[in-house]
Formats: sequence, C-alpha cells, structure tokens
Amino acid sequence: MKFIDEATISVSSGHGGSGCVSFRREKYIPWGGPDGGNGGKGGDIVFKTDPGKRTLQVFKTRRIFKAENGAPGRGKQQTGRDGRDTVIPLPPGTIISDAETQQVIIDMVDPDATFAFLKGGRGGKGNRHFTSSTYRSPKFAQPGEPGQTATVRLELKILADIGLIGLPNAGKSTLLSVISAARPAIGDYPFTTLSPNLGMVKVKDGEPFAVADIPGLIEGAHTGAGLGIQFLRHIERTRFLVHLIDASAIDPADPLKAYRTINNELTMYGKTLTEKPQVVVLNKMDIPEASALADVFERTIQPAACFRISAAACQGLEDLKNHLLMLLSQET
Ligand code: GDP
Ligand code: MG
Repeated sequence: MKFIDEATISVSSGHGGSGCVSFRREKYIPWGGPDGGNGGKGGDIVFKTDPGKRTLQVFKTRRIFKAENGAPGRGKQQTGRDGRDTVIPLPPGTIISDAETQQVIIDMVDPDATFAFLKGGRGGKGNRHFTSSTYRSPKFAQPGEPGQTATVRLELKILADIGLIGLPNAGKSTLLSVISAARPAIGDYPFTTLSPNLGMVKVKDGEPFAVADIPGLIEGAHTGAGLGIQFLRHIERTRFLVHLIDASAIDPADPLKAYRTINNELTMYGKTLTEKPQVVVLNKMDIPEASALADVFERTIQPAACFRISAAACQGLEDLKNHLLMLLSQET
C-alpha cells in the first residue's frame, strides 16, 4: 500500500556574469591597458535531504526555483561575485525524475544526501584575459554562460506518522476531514471498500504530518478475510495511534467497553500494535451528556490523561494538533 505525495517543479541554475571590457584610465596614464574582470559563476541548483521534512506540501505553493546569476566583471580587474546556490530541502526518500521523460534522476534515500543537479553557467572572461604580447588591447569580452533549466517531478511515498483508530461512528472520518489540509493520492490499495484515508495535517510553525484514518477496525475484524496483514502493515509503521472514542455513547456501567474492544482487536494482530503509544481522545463533547460520561471514563482509565474534543464543532483541535506535533518531534 502506498500513499503518494507528488509535485512538479521547475528549476534553473544561474547565468554566468558577463566579462567586462574596460581600459585603465588614470591621470598620468591616458592609454592604460585592458583591465576588464571576469564575470562570476552562476549559482547551482542543489537538492538536499532534510530529515525534519516529512512531506512535499511546500511545493504545492512554490513551484519555481532559480539560483542567483553571477555578477558581471568590472573594471580594475574586478571579478564579479558568484551567484548563490539554491538549496532545495527534500524529505528523505524523495525520488526525483525528469518530468518529460519520466526517467528517474536520483532517489534521495540517505538522510544527509546532497545532489548538485544543475550547475550554474561559468562567468565570461573580461578583456584583460585576452591580452597577449601581440594583442595588447582587446575590445571584447566573453558573455557569461547561460544557466540550465529543467522540470522535475518529485515523488514521495508517505508513511502515516499517526494512525487513527476507534469504533465505527466514533468520528474518525470527521476528525480527519477537519484537521487535514490536503489529501494525497492513494495508490495500490487492495481493499477498495476499506481504503484508509490519509490526511496531511498542518500546524502553525510546524512541519505537516500524515494521519491515516483506519476504518473497519471492529470486533472480530482481524479474522476477516479481506483485512489481511496488508491492511495492518500500515498502522504497524505509524509512530503512534490516536484512539478516538464517542464520549456520548459511553456506557456508564462499563465505561471502557469501546476502548477495550479496539485494544483487544489490536492485541489479536500482535505485539507491535499493542505496544504502540496511544493518545486517547474523547469526541462529540458538544453533546450535552458527553461531559458527565467523559468524567466517568477518565476516572476509570489509567493513566487518566485524555483529550476532549468535538470534531463536528471544531473544538479542542488546536491543542490536540499541537500535542501530536510535540510527540512527533520528541521521537526524532
Ligand atoms: P467514523 O466511522 O469513525 O469515521 O465516524 P464518522 O466521522 O463517519 O462520524 C460518525 C457520525 O458521528 C457522523 O454522523 C458524524 O457527523 C458524527 N460526529 C462526528 N464527530 C462528531 C462530534 O464531534 N459531535 C457530534 N455531535 N457528532 C459527531
Ligand atoms: Mg469513517
């Protein structure tokens, strides 16, 4: 199963600065020799992996990257300044391919890979460079070499950072829809009727993270034919789980019933899921009865720290998102 994030961007390296045609002019040297300096080199386009990045979301809004041009040479043999490189940070695992030919250029796997993709143009030589014993006053200089331009496709297979679990009707789909900004394409998922939904969650001043809504995790589901190991593999790779509970449906006689049902289900699948940390979130707090029932729940569960939200009324979501982001940044 793959969640794919993709973007197409256009990149250009900088032009070289042109060489300068200039002759020395000083008070007592009316016809000084040529002194035009060389142009500076254009900046390169460099791709670099950054483990702090998890998605390609930034490229949805910024698609054009250009490195700086080299500065032209000047008189008095002054060389123009080199253009600055443009370094484009990418999440590790991004595959760069040619947008036209589809040919893979490089797979940026390493967490500290650097790839100088497009070289900047060389600076042109100034007229001083062309001086020789027989050719004393060249009146020409070279232009700078042009930079290069390319359109590349970036592709990243996203693993969800967080899995969203809970009984049907707990509000998982609703929560995902209100906290996520974008939905990457889902490919290659074998169970079309039960395909998990992935949402990219944006937090102010934080790197976006991926949350997968895992539907169909109900009592006995682990024995279901369609819900094989494939299905669970995805939550296996998440860093932690958000366990969503419909607070309005809590049974005061057995407040942890829904919670236990899902956890039993996880146990059936094996240790990796059982040991995954969970953030317990009580939903539908906008319903009047929910508050008293949530109190009962929190008194029963150990440890007692639960988030209370209303996905439908968008309450408590900022605190929850910030908490999730904090947990994610702690682990790396
Ligand atoms: P899922 O099966 O866990 O994905 O649950 P859904 O997101 O489909 O939600 C189930 C039902 O609960 C829908 O009718 C939602 O409108 C409703 N719902 C979800 N969140 C809230 C909430 O915070 N408050 C209230 N009152 N209803 C909610
Ligand atoms: Mg749902």
